[in-house]
Amino acid sequence: MNLEKLKIRIERGEQYLLALEEFRNWEWGEILAEYRDGRLALPQIMVLMHPDFYAVREAQVGMSIRGPRSFSTTAGQHAASCMADRIWLLTCPLRRSEVQADHLFPYSLGGPTLAANQLFLCPAHNSAKGSDVHLFPWERGEPSWLAMQVEKIRKLLL
Ligand SMILES: [Zn+2]
Repeated sequence: MNLEKLKIRIERGEQYLLALEEFRNWEWGEILAEYRDGRLALPQIMVLMHPDFYAVREAQVGMSIRGPRSFSTTAGQHAASCMADRIWLLTCPLRRSEVQADHLFPYSLGGPTLAANQLFLCPAHNSAKGSDVHLFPWERGEPSWLAMQVEKIRKLLL
């Protein structure tokens, strides 16, 4: 286990929670402007995904920014083993357990239901992860889906 990497993840997770607090009363477009000017770090950028900014408008228009709540069952699901190592950097000791499709960046915080945001976890690790972002792989930089989601939200709100 790489403790240094875990430490960095937890620190960035805290920065994310702090940014959520900090940006609570901002307009979404103001945060977008900060992002486009290169003034935000990833934990701050991810605040742009938060449904609080667009859930009401989303319901009014009848569109879905994140997609369905759950991943549809895929063939790969049965073959995959628990990917706990991607979060906790530890191999799941329950490898033979069935796995469930989960959102790498939590759906409740704006993580989309897309293959690039999907990981498979055993029920125990899925439950343990929940909406926690302290061990999200922040060190990997912007998720591949981020720009597309920002654009969808921009079209909805601005
Ligand atoms: Zn597991």
